[in-house]
Amino acid sequence: MAIPFADELLDRLAIPTFVIGRDHVITHWNAALAKASGLASVKMVGTRNQWMPFYKRPRPTLADLLLDGCSESTLTRVYSDKLHCSNLIDGAYVAEDFFPEIGPEGEWLSFTAAPVRDCSGRTTAVIETLVSVSDRKHAELELAESEQHYRELSMLDDLTGLYNARQLRREIKRHIDLSRRYEQPMALAMLDLDFFKQINDNYGHLFGDQILRAFGDIIRSGIRNPDDAFRYGGEEFVILMPFTTEADALGVAERIRITLKHARFLTDDGDSIQLTVSGGITRIDPDDHYDSLMQRADSTLYAAKQQGRDRILLTPQSSQTPMSSG
Ligand code: GH3
Ligand code: MG
Ligand code: MG
Repeated sequence: MAIPFADELLDRLAIPTFVIGRDHVITHWNAALAKASGLASVKMVGTRNQWMPFYKRPRPTLADLLLDGCSESTLTRVYSDKLHCSNLIDGAYVAEDFFPEIGPEGEWLSFTAAPVRDCSGRTTAVIETLVSVSDRKHAELELAESEQHYRELSMLDDLTGLYNARQLRREIKRHIDLSRRYEQPMALAMLDLDFFKQINDNYGHLFGDQILRAFGDIIRSGIRNPDDAFRYGGEEFVILMPFTTEADALGVAERIRITLKHARFLTDDGDSIQLTVSGGITRIDPDDHYDSLMQRADSTLYAAKQQGRDRILLTPQSSQTPMSSG
């Protein structure tokens, strides 16, 4: 049964709205929807072209699916987690989705389809309203991006772009857990630039910073995919190497040491500067905690400094905690 003045009422509603009746034919296409879609009511009413504002080719709208009596599981399959029951209208569903084919850049729409039932409970028509939520969606996406940006900033060292000391603490804990779970060899290398204070004293702090940045790049190119590198102090760096024996870790650290040794850094005065690095490598044991591991690596690094610098040493087996048997 036609509702008196329905067209007039719907045309005064500032929400784009259409109604489909039996056989999926459009019975109402209000002025707001005509304006938003650029499709005039006279062209749409009496057709089954309700898909037109949203898709390139014919496809059922939410209203069509409801009119066909689709179950909630079917609707959820089509709209996945973007669909939920309306908490305002019984039997109605609300969904939010991105429509790439609307306008030059696509549009985010929130749409609600509500069934109109006759006295026997049969769905005879469905009314669908559409609201653009693009502004809110873009703001949400921007917020998510900036949160991600700040999360990354809080993990990274400003100067070198390697991970920072805070992240090292988190990752060491994770690596100890890994070594416990998989009983696989894991290694840590601690590297410290030799006589770096002299570089600052002789050529200035800014030049020192340039070298730290360049050394960060050398480390980044020297490590392999699963390895992670950290700047955890002024001129102190750590590399965590999962599933790596100390012998293999020594290979990685040696490559970095040699690359630095062959690098030349030019000062503003045209001097060519060369520097070296010392390192200590230790196995990550399942019984380790942050302090025990770092102390062992630090003692090994200290021994490398004592023995004349420009070398990488392995922690002696006697200093490692005995491997848990079994
Ligand atoms: P060693 O071979 O025993 O490691 O000698 P070293 O001079 O490298 O060691 P020391 O710990 O005495 O000096 C480290 C220097 O690193 C002191 C400080 O001036 C410098 N440093 C620490 N952080 C930064 C930084 O962010 N930028 C620059 N340019 N220098 C830094
Ligand atoms: Mg140093
Ligand atoms: Mg140092």
